[in-house]
Amino acid sequence: MEFNTKLIHGGTSMDETTGGMSVPIHMATTFQQKKIGQSKYDYSRSANPTREAVEELIADLEGGAAGLAFASGSAAINTIFSLFSAGDHFVVGNDVYGGTFRLIDSVLKRLGLTFTVVDTRDLTAVKQAITPKTKAIYLETPTNPLLRVTDVKAVTEIAHENNLLSIIDNTFSSPYIQRPIEFDVDIVIHSASKYLGGHSDVIAGLVVTKDAQLAEELRFLQNAIGAILSPHDSWLLQRGMKTLGLRMRAHLQNADAVFDYLSKQEMVEKIYYPGDPENEDFTIAKKQMNGFGAMISFELQEGLDPSAFVEQLQVITLAESLGAVESLIEIPALMTHGSIPRATRIANGIKDELIRLSVGVEDPKDLLADLEQSFNHLKGK
Ligand SMILES: *Cc1c(COP(=O)(O)O)cnc(C)c1O
Repeated sequence: MEFNTKLIHGGTSMDETTGGMSVPIHMATTFQQKKIGQSKYDYSRSANPTREAVEELIADLEGGAAGLAFASGSAAINTIFSLFSAGDHFVVGNDVYGGTFRLIDSVLKRLGLTFTVVDTRDLTAVKQAITPKTKAIYLETPTNPLLRVTDVKAVTEIAHENNLLSIIDNTFSSPYIQRPIEFDVDIVIHSASKYLGGHSDVIAGLVVTKDAQLAEELRFLQNAIGAILSPHDSWLLQRGMKTLGLRMRAHLQNADAVFDYLSKQEMVEKIYYPGDPENEDFTIAKKQMNGFGAMISFELQEGLDPSAFVEQLQVITLAESLGAVESLIEIPALMTHGSIPRATRIANGIKDELIRLSVGVEDPKDLLADLEQSFNHLKGK
């Protein structure tokens, strides 16, 4: 089955008992056991038919052994790190999601896990960061908010040569654009609150493992820790995912148009977009991604006020988050990455002036006109 067909018919996509074209929302917390132990389900934290449907679907889409659904992307990430023990060491990308940085810095370090942060595009730096205690390499590509692209295959090879797990947060691409398990990655994570859900109306996390053994271990932790996705949200997520292909095609087209516009706009100093042929990661992005994603970050020329620019926009909404049908814009230094100490943030290349745009699926004419009127507003200041 092709990817776009799997979105509609993959995993469990309908109700076998009635022929209903949508999986029922099974709210039951407990299930009758005709004889002790003889039932497919017993308690909904352990397994729930509605959640199972979306778990099967994401496993199908990513091409992994099994999927697991969590209450949020953050809950998924925390559950993955619960595979490990105090003293274990990790090599982590230097441009990870702000909330992941917060989890590592304020929670996981306190529990005794240790981390070395590197630019995972630099394969020598990745190798040098590995110690005898290292258990995994954890990264995002493209990164947030600078959209840096790491060669997934190369890093996974380094991981496996050193008996480490490779873990990738695939949120920014969605499986439409990139399927890391095809490059031998062990664990793929999604904040499904973004492209997979796609409508700014469900917080969810999904995980897919390459092999079944690891899925078993995570299944145990999912049940033990209990940060599961509710039946209602599982249903909402699966409904959103059915249109991922349609949405991504529109996202990608619009992102191209916005990139074109921004690259001709003289008030823009710098653009970060893997689809820019002049971007240093363009070649790798082209090799491993099916399209370049719909996230574009940029800096205005010095002296121009990024807050005034984003506050003037009318169609593009000033808000955190990304990956929804609506175009969303934000200033990482003041919003999504505000919890990272300024010095660390600047050292990682995230300037105060940086603007991050999640290009939605509106008519591109309206998006370009909105950007234009906001640039004109800056000019008039
Ligand atoms: C949003 C996000 C997360 C966290 O997901 P939640 O669903 O908000 O908990 C993790 N990683 C990336 C890349 C994200 O964008």
